[in-house]
Amino acid sequence: MKNMIETKNLSKTYKAFTAVDHVSLHIKKGSIYGFLGPNGAGKSTTMKMLLGLTAPTDGDFQIDNLTFPNDRVQILKKIGSFIESPSFYPNLTGKENLDIIRRILGLPESSVDEALELVGLSEFGNRLAKKYSLGMKQRLGLASALLGEPPILILDEPTNGLDPEGIIEIRKLVLDLNKKSNITILISSHYLDELSKIATNYGFIDKGHIVEEISYEELNSKIREKTTVKIK
Ligand code: ADP
Ligand code: MG
Repeated sequence: MKNMIETKNLSKTYKAFTAVDHVSLHIKKGSIYGFLGPNGAGKSTTMKMLLGLTAPTDGDFQIDNLTFPNDRVQILKKIGSFIESPSFYPNLTGKENLDIIRRILGLPESSVDEALELVGLSEFGNRLAKKYSLGMKQRLGLASALLGEPPILILDEPTNGLDPEGIIEIRKLVLDLNKKSNITILISSHYLDELSKIATNYGFIDKGHIVEEISYEELNSKIREKTTVKIK
């Protein structure tokens, strides 16, 4: 299967400090790629580079056979993103907030209702954003990423700050989206358990370095081996 996202030696250095160090990721089309690492490992910085929000100091990447930076605008059209805690206008409704983004993206009016439907917020579309619970705000963030149903989603710690119920909800949503429309999803977390039930592949990052890229099956057989050794 071909890679939907491929980075080669992607790096980001701030003065003397290297936040992302020669990162080469291979993210298959249709996969849910769990990007795992402790706080400060370089997850957000990597994702921001993929979104053209911060410039790489070295390396390059391709998304759906388009190359950065030459095809930057075309690349962006393919990605829906959720980076850090998205902010909304508190005194506008969920629907009005999405409509602003929808207009910027030049999408048809119907895409707002479609996105609200996808995240299960249809009946709360006319409620003011400031009245949303944290879980609803995260879902609104996902809805904005889903406007226009892009083939790729980049989600940076979308379950951050949610209670266990909210985490389960987001997990279910990610899984449904991937199944329903074969969206390629890059999702980060600092907590393996959070992604262990949904990711098909993993990339572990620490101090800017990729420690390992591994499939769900490979990871599980490794864990089983370790458990067996312990029992012996
Ligand atoms: P993660 O998302 O994995 O928690 P980040 O990508 O946010 O990690 O950060 C990686 C490292 O880069 C951290 O040590 C962070 O302090 C540093 N960093 C991030 N942005 C900047 C910046 N604008 N200037 C300097 N250092 C930064
Ligand atoms: Mg981060």
